[in-house]
Amino acid sequence: MSLLTQEHELARKTAREFAEKYVDPIVRKMDRENYYPRETIRDAGELGILTPTVPAEYGGGGGDLRTAVVVLEELGRISGGFSLLVEALGILFADAVNKHASKRQKEEILPKIASGEKIGAFALSEPCCGSDAAAIQTAAVRRGGEWVINGHKMWITNGHYADYYLVAARTGPREARHKAITVFLLKRSNCVETSQIEVMGVRGTGTAEVKFNNCAASDDDIVGEVNGGWKVIVDTLNVGRTAISGVTVGIARGAFEEALKWARNRELFDRKLIEFQNTQFELAEMYASIETARTLAYYAAYLYDINSPGFLIMSHVAKLQTARIAVDVTRRAVQIEGGFGYSKESKAEMFYRDAKILEIGEGTNEVMKYVIYKLIEKGQ
Ligand SMILES: Cc1cc2nc3c(=O)[nH]c(=O)nc-3n(C[C@H](O)[C@H](O)[C@H](O)COP(=O)(O)OP(=O)(O)OC[C@H]3O[C@@H](n4cnc5c(N)ncnc54)[C@H](O)[C@@H]3O)c2cc1C
Repeated sequence: MSLLTQEHELARKTAREFAEKYVDPIVRKMDRENYYPRETIRDAGELGILTPTVPAEYGGGGGDLRTAVVVLEELGRISGGFSLLVEALGILFADAVNKHASKRQKEEILPKIASGEKIGAFALSEPCCGSDAAAIQTAAVRRGGEWVINGHKMWITNGHYADYYLVAARTGPREARHKAITVFLLKRSNCVETSQIEVMGVRGTGTAEVKFNNCAASDDDIVGEVNGGWKVIVDTLNVGRTAISGVTVGIARGAFEEALKWARNRELFDRKLIEFQNTQFELAEMYASIETARTLAYYAAYLYDINSPGFLIMSHVAKLQTARIAVDVTRRAVQIEGGFGYSKESKAEMFYRDAKILEIGEGTNEVMKYVIYKLIEKGQ
């Protein structure tokens, strides 16, 4: 049985052509200058690959989760950064809005996001709390018939350039943890202050600190229910963890292709590097790992697409294993390239730095293991 249909392969072709034509020329600029590719995001919007799962009526790609994984894989093969920013925009923001926001919110915002005209960001993590997200301190307080939001978010992808934020805020006592969190959809205004962060990899993604200073919101700006934000967050992250596995597979493939090219050209000891059996074994190991990672990512997405209860644990398994594989494969790619692999000229070097975020963002490896074990205990 194939986990992918012809439609998925069509989406792959579109994303691959787009990545090679539009993302490849800017990938080094993104990495070197932390350059945020605003125009290329608009180009991706025109092709419907910015929001692969948003319905066509809102201008999205109208695909399922497998479509998103395949698109992100193809983008990641060329640029981990571009793929990650599309994942954060198209899944963590747009897919969440599509699933949890009101019709009015969707009609107002999704077409602008899908076309790339506006940028959206998912703002959960804070300086205090990433893994322990139920302890967030950003607060929304009721004052004179409206909500007033104050708080400090951290590490927000696209955050420096966003026009809209999905903001998780505390709407009850800290002791109530996840039971007193509400998600708001905020439009950027003067009350939002951002500063870009210099990150190690996935550069050019507009990763930022975002401060909300007395931001006013109405009941209409709430996504889901008051004190029901945790459901929105968890549902979004479950889907995100599978989607980001597509980014991961792409990064590993990109590094593999670089290493293969290098090994075929590099001459030493009067032979090509590729002729040494160790090199062949390394490439075979890398290939086998990538195929394992892809299968896991596609399978997790397939389980989601058929509404299987097995999705939940598999989403976490896929995130954990694909991230480890990407770090391992990119490390091996650098090794095959030797000194060149350690230089800024090498794309494998960039992929190696990009890969590391996958063991941290959207839940660290340790958090994945925590959730997997909880689900094992529950008999899933
Ligand atoms: C480039 C980048 C982009 C990001 N994009 C976004 C975004 O768009 N939106 C957003 O909301 N967040 C985003 N994040 C934040 C990311 O999700 C968090 O960094 C991540 O969840 C880890 O949280 P933390 O940094 O607070 O680390 P901590 O939670 O402090 O973790 C530190 C270490 O402790 C370990 N640890 C934590 N809990 C346990 C435990 N129970 N048992 C054992 N070990 C544990 C962790 O695994 C980790 O190794 C991004 C981060 C980065 C770096």
